[in-house]
Amino acid sequence: MVAIIGRPNVGKSALFNYILRKRLSIVHEQSGVTRDRLVSPCEHWGHKFLLVDTGGLGTHHKEKKVDLFDGMIREQVTEVISEATVLIWVLNCQEGITPQDEEVAEFLRKSGKPVVIAANKADNNEIRGQAFGLFAPLGYLDIHPTSCTHTAGASQLLDAVVKYLPEPEEEQLDEDAGEEQEDKRFKIAIVGRPNVGKSSLVNRLLGENRVMVSDIPGTTRDAIDVPVDLKYDDQVLQATLIDTAGMRRKKQIDTVVEFFSLSRSETAIKRCDIVIFMIDATDPCTTQERRIGRVIVDERKSCVMLANKWDIAGKSIKEGEFKKFVRERMPFMSHAPLQVISALNGYHVNGIVRHLLHVKAQMGVMVPTGVFNHFLQDTFARNPPPTVGMKRFKCFYGTMKGNNPPRFVLFVNKRSLCPANYLQYIQNQIRDAFFPEAGLPVVLDLRERTKMEDADATRKAAAGAKRAKEVDYQSEKRRINRQKGYRK
Ligand code: GDP
Ligand code: GDP
Repeated sequence: MVAIIGRPNVGKSALFNYILRKRLSIVHEQSGVTRDRLVSPCEHWGHKFLLVDTGGLGTHHKEKKVDLFDGMIREQVTEVISEATVLIWVLNCQEGITPQDEEVAEFLRKSGKPVVIAANKADNNEIRGQAFGLFAPLGYLDIHPTSCTHTAGASQLLDAVVKYLPEPEEEQLDEDAGEEQEDKRFKIAIVGRPNVGKSSLVNRLLGENRVMVSDIPGTTRDAIDVPVDLKYDDQVLQATLIDTAGMRRKKQIDTVVEFFSLSRSETAIKRCDIVIFMIDATDPCTTQERRIGRVIVDERKSCVMLANKWDIAGKSIKEGEFKKFVRERMPFMSHAPLQVISALNGYHVNGIVRHLLHVKAQMGVMVPTGVFNHFLQDTFARNPPPTVGMKRFKCFYGTMKGNNPPRFVLFVNKRSLCPANYLQYIQNQIRDAFFPEAGLPVVLDLRERTKMEDADATRKAAAGAKRAKEVDYQSEKRRINRQKGYRK
């Protein structure tokens, strides 16, 4: 984990966005409050890490954004910093060192974490040249001028950051590992009712975005699962299209009965990592579509919805109106991004691969506990839960338990005090902050804690256990040393 920190207004969020400059083409129109993105998976020279923007973490207090280094929430920042491997400390070249920066410096020294300075707002060569001299007195010498407005300096900054990260794991390439490799492939199920355009899409993906298909002669045609490397820009997604045989053979056999029995789609949905759910833009949201949607939700699969045949439908309806219609008819699919495409003329088809790459990256995100609790506090402060009778729903503490789909445990006072729409609000906020546009369902497990002390006790117990382990380790080391001395 790499955290971007610094006092307010130095450009933390700007730097975060600049580093993640690859914007997505599939837009997720989520109802209700949206928030800044806080955490994103990142890669630099093969080093994979989570980038955290503490600028986005600023707690909202009475509609005013209170920044991290405000005394109130210092404790929480400490937690975020303690979880990070490296810190990017953003400073403003145009203002130099301020008293607040000195305060931050002291804070960082205590943390003992490696710090790389982004001397930001270095918008011209003159300022760039002065950056080192300006900030060296702070005691950290890894100083790199950046300018977010001129998009300059991020790669040198990241070069410095990854020096503090563990070496990236070598990709396993030996042939024996072939099976394992196959397992690691991203499994994609393309589902939808007959004639929606699934075969056309598969052919387009295989024809245009393919760089390699497993070359088993002859058999490939009939294979149920087709391994395929899809590329977007310089990135390659090793994927397997699940159950494409039905689509390929369908011209020769009587398909309607066999291929469209829901059970077949169901099996494909169960086996996959992500569902591409195709609907017909000229006739969306039929009963059959709603049934398929239900299966996807029940199986808790990541999903992207593609409304095909937009070349026709787009002539009679505006995109916004169309999407609104689909959202209203299938509210249970609201977490899945919706994109209009045309498999026939290729409209927006390239964006699909880009999106799949994005989802795959999101699936690896484990939100650090410190960040998550800060986020929870902020989410509750922005929009407090309603009172039920004399009581109010409270959440003491939360933690991420796993991903794919992302699962979180919240320790709460009483489950029944949480209205369904409030739970939905928390889910939406989590999705926006940590898994934007990935179409991932977020699973929340509410566990009751009668008293705050109870939750505290859990935390203390965990910390105590960790300390106990360290102590044991220390005494073990002393014991071994004593033994060595004895032998001498
Ligand atoms: P944060 O509070 O630290 O997250 O700061 P923001 O990212 O919100 O940025 C604060 C202000 O600084 C915004 O108005 C940005 O447009 C501006 N800013 C950010 N980076 C640069 C930069 O490199 N050069 C200049 N001139 N302005 C910048
Ligand atoms: P499947 O049954 O879901 O595999 O659907 P097909 O790919 O076989 O497509 C059914 C029909 O829809 C074929 O006649 C395609 O040519 C047509 N079709 C597929 N995609 C599009 C599209 O984007 N626009 C239009 N106008 N027709 C399409």
